[in-house]
Amino acid sequence: MHFDTRSVHAAAIHDEHGSVASPIILSTTFERNPDGTFRDHLYSRYSNPNRTALEAAVANLESGGDAGARGYAFASGLAASAALLQTLQSGDHVLLPDDVYHGVFAQVQELFTPLGITFSRVDMSNSAAVANAMRTETKIVWMETPSNPMLKITDIAAVAAIARDGSAISVCDNTWATPVLQRPLALGCDVVLHSATKYIGGHSDVLQGVLAVRGGCDALHEKLTRVQMVGGAVPSPFECWLAARGLMTMPVRVRAQAASAEQIALWLSEHPAVERVLYPGLATHPGYDIAKRQMSHAGAMLSFMVRGSGEKAMRTACSTTIFTHATSLGAVESLIEHRASVEGIGSTTPDTLLRLSIGLEHTADLIADLDRALAAK
Ligand SMILES: *Cc1c(COP(=O)(O)O)cnc(C)c1O
Repeated sequence: MHFDTRSVHAAAIHDEHGSVASPIILSTTFERNPDGTFRDHLYSRYSNPNRTALEAAVANLESGGDAGARGYAFASGLAASAALLQTLQSGDHVLLPDDVYHGVFAQVQELFTPLGITFSRVDMSNSAAVANAMRTETKIVWMETPSNPMLKITDIAAVAAIARDGSAISVCDNTWATPVLQRPLALGCDVVLHSATKYIGGHSDVLQGVLAVRGGCDALHEKLTRVQMVGGAVPSPFECWLAARGLMTMPVRVRAQAASAEQIALWLSEHPAVERVLYPGLATHPGYDIAKRQMSHAGAMLSFMVRGSGEKAMRTACSTTIFTHATSLGAVESLIEHRASVEGIGSTTPDTLLRLSIGLEHTADLIADLDRALAAK
């Protein structure tokens, strides 16, 4: 079946009433069979119907239906990255992108470095530099493409091959592209990470993370199953239900939002108050060719630098009326954000940079809103 069909049906739960909408099963515990054996579920931290359905659906969509692929849902995107890092041991090394999502960087630095895990950072858009940065103790190579908030593009197939040569696991944070636009597992990656808080949920009302692991990674499957079970950072059945509902509309949402973002990027790139637009769908973007090869569209996220000062950028973000001035991304409503002030001390994001998450409002209204905000005195 096609991707869109699987998105609608892959997480469905069928009950004895013939409910067309999936039920939410809140029970934390499950009765055994009369002979004392266990049924499908035992205790909700181990597994439950809503979580199992969601995990299977994300694994299916990311892997293109690989029966060996598995999904693991967690209480947030960062809980998912923590679970993956908890499969490591003291002395192991993680290779991170120099512009990795700031929360992942903080997590590695604050929670895992004290436990003896080392890391270094490299420009992941430079495959030769990645090969040079590999160490014998490198166990995870982390990609995030397009990156946040600079929209840098990593050649997923090239970096996954480098990781494989070094016997390291390759991970791609696919939160921004979603499997609608990019499928890292098909490009040779071992693990895909999602903040399902973003496009999978799609409505700014569920916090969740999901890992999708390709088939054939038996040792990793075993470890992640244990980390999820005894680490316990799992989402509730209701949150899994919300994320599963989000999956059903994700393909149409993402494609519509991406088409709108492309028009807005083009419009901004000709605006006199804009110094530079970072969007991999523009031919001037350094990652344009690779993005064209590995993505079906450049996506619904973009950043731009306003001409002038950081104050001018902040004033622009404070002057929109349709774009909401808030962090996060991937939902039906458009958001604008002054990124450097969210990332705080140590941020390398330019002070004049504004990040846009394009929602489902009409493109012309969004353009008019940005035009007014850029003119604000
Ligand atoms: C939001 C985000 C995360 C973290 O996810 P949470 O659900 O907020 O924990 C990780 N990576 C990317 C690219 C994100 O946008």
